[in-house]
Amino acid sequence: MNITEEELEIFSRQLILKDFKEEKFNELQKKEISIIGLGGIGCPLAQYLISAGIKKLNIFDGDTIQKTNLNRQTLYSIHDIGKKKSTIAKKKLLGTNPNAVINSYNHKIAKDNLHLLKNSSIIIDASDNWETMRLINKYTTKKNLPLLSISVVGFDIQMILFENTTHNHLCLECIFPNHNEPELARCDTVGIMGTTAGLAGIISAQKAINFLLKFNEKNNILTLVDVKLLSISHIKTKKNIDCKLQ
Ligand SMILES: [Zn+2]
Repeated sequence: MNITEEELEIFSRQLILKDFKEEKFNELQKKEISIIGLGGIGCPLAQYLISAGIKKLNIFDGDTIQKTNLNRQTLYSIHDIGKKKSTIAKKKLLGTNPNAVINSYNHKIAKDNLHLLKNSSIIIDASDNWETMRLINKYTTKKNLPLLSISVVGFDIQMILFENTTHNHLCLECIFPNHNEPELARCDTVGIMGTTAGLAGIISAQKAINFLLKFNEKNNILTLVDVKLLSISHIKTKKNIDCKLQ
């Protein structure tokens, strides 16, 4: 994939970084990322991935934009109320890099369309929906596709990357084996600050880039961020020997 003259200019400040030469940038541009959910996490996540040079992006969200979204869903404005999130997000993202190839899907990920994820270098689940999370977890485990799962509860961010390699099993159900929804408090019931969702989006964008460019090879780690303390903890996790998906 060739970098266009325009892209060289857009990303020039990144390309002069010591650890980020044109070769790395080329590598990044060949990757395909799928984002599930274009809410408070998905908006800054998508924005910063495109701003980092990701050129192939698949975005999924079946919802329309509401006024209550505007405190954290930074790709939308008051003029977009009632429009499809995926359509507006695509338009906004192409405003940063018109050369990007963005496939936007106006529907949720479900059993019959999981195949749309099959070419992804990494899938990022920011859906905040336990049923969707379990479905994607099962699919990515079976297909050996890397999965980054990110969620926010109040002022706490939780993030984990499952490499889903053939020999080392660790998945979402190893950590949350209950079939009932774990403590995933929803934004519309317990509330959320835009800054917390924003941090979650940016941290997950960085984690995805670190993984794709092998900046940091430590995985199978549950990262917990307390945004009030601005503290980050890393907890080593391991597979559940009773997990049915291994
Ligand atoms: Zn498992």
